[in-house]
Amino acid sequence: MQSTPKTFRIKSFGCQMNVYDGERISELLSDTGLEAAADGEDADLVVLNTCHIREKAAEKAYSDVGRLKREDGSRPMIALAGCVAQAEGAEAKRRSPMIDMVVGPQAYHRLPEMLAQASRGARPVDTDMPAISKFEALPKRRRANPSAFLTVQEGCDKFCTYCVVPYTRGAEVSRPRADIVAEARALVGGGAREIVLLGQNVNAWKHDGRGLADLIRDIAGIDGLERIRYTTSHPADMGDALIAAHGEVEKLMPYLHLPVQSGSDSILKAMNRSHSVESYLSTIEKVRDARADVAISGDFIVGFPGESEEDFQATLRIVDAVGYACAYSFKYSARPGTPAAVMEDQIAPEVMDDRLQRLQARIAERQLAFNRSTVGRDTQVLIERSGRRPGQMIGRSPWLQSVHVETGAEPGTMLDVTLTAAGPNSMTGALRQKDAA
Ligand code: SAM
Ligand code: SF4
Repeated sequence: MQSTPKTFRIKSFGCQMNVYDGERISELLSDTGLEAAADGEDADLVVLNTCHIREKAAEKAYSDVGRLKREDGSRPMIALAGCVAQAEGAEAKRRSPMIDMVVGPQAYHRLPEMLAQASRGARPVDTDMPAISKFEALPKRRRANPSAFLTVQEGCDKFCTYCVVPYTRGAEVSRPRADIVAEARALVGGGAREIVLLGQNVNAWKHDGRGLADLIRDIAGIDGLERIRYTTSHPADMGDALIAAHGEVEKLMPYLHLPVQSGSDSILKAMNRSHSVESYLSTIEKVRDARADVAISGDFIVGFPGESEEDFQATLRIVDAVGYACAYSFKYSARPGTPAAVMEDQIAPEVMDDRLQRLQARIAERQLAFNRSTVGRDTQVLIERSGRRPGQMIGRSPWLQSVHVETGAEPGTMLDVTLTAAGPNSMTGALRQKDAA
């Protein structure tokens, strides 16, 4: 039996929504009287906040659990959280006797209660997706990073044939507008200058007949907040009101993450993406009409079942057609329980490797071209953290580029900067006279 823990550590893997959940779990545990373990120090409780999106996620989580055993044979109390916990449920306890608690992404507000049960020797499992929102049970926000995440929508009803999200995160649920605005205010009060609205399908957010564009306008009214971003969007939910907001709301940053997955219509159909290459390109065109300097990023999957070399060539073409400022690309990973996992014509691993390499090389060229096109621009950089060299700080441009600046400014400072040099993954910026003085 484990004694009641006094200190904790949270390890979050995967998407930004997991990072957000990790922050909220941390606040919850702190309110329960636990203290975050200092860097390098042993923790009494470890929460593994897992991701299930790609292959071997469960195996990776179990080996992470195994590695928590200490040299003297003892171990911390262990909570398996996140999407692997949701997918594995009680099976996790059978597979690893070291796991004390299993808690899904919609149930983590119950962690304090589960902790008490585990301290009495029980091994609670909660993977319910309750109708009562966990958000109501969580403590109010207090401290925030200069750029803070705020989950506004969870789950997904799209059922792309390769994806586990609709099964691990459940159906699409939008948080009420007033709750989101209150949380945004609290984050700004706690130091945030930028808010990133999060959702698996963030642009499907709706509440009381209002959509994401209205929510962005509401949040833009908060004094002290300078920047708004949102991610991840589905192309089919990119409505006219949201596109118009890009041209009208000054605080909405000129950046849009709009995954396309493939440049081939037949693959998009097999993926059940509910958009075509043409409709995707036309959406991008409309966004650029609304805001000419918008930077576009995306996600790609190579090696979806049945993908021919010709389909793949179409994917390379769409990279050029869009001119992505940045993009993430993945090898298709068969997820148990998804329709694509049992499709014929699964692609050989070496073919996937080769396509991924070629796609990433093309994306890298585009990214460098985009970064170079911004050299010479006078812009603002929101400082987020220290760089590797003394006197160097790292922040973000409006186009989400990492910018290195020589400055003594603290995180949270907005600096007037000229972008002076471009690399493949970051920019260099020089303070403009006003700040340099
Ligand atoms: N809702 C978003 C959308 O519609 O694009 C994406 C959410 S998903 C968590 C993030 C990315 O993971 C996807 O855009 C996709 O590229 C990738 N992904 C999801 N399932 C995958 C799979 N089975 N194999 C490889 N990549 C996958
Ligand atoms: Fe997964 Fe995104 Fe498709 Fe939903 S829309 S099933 S989250 S890839």
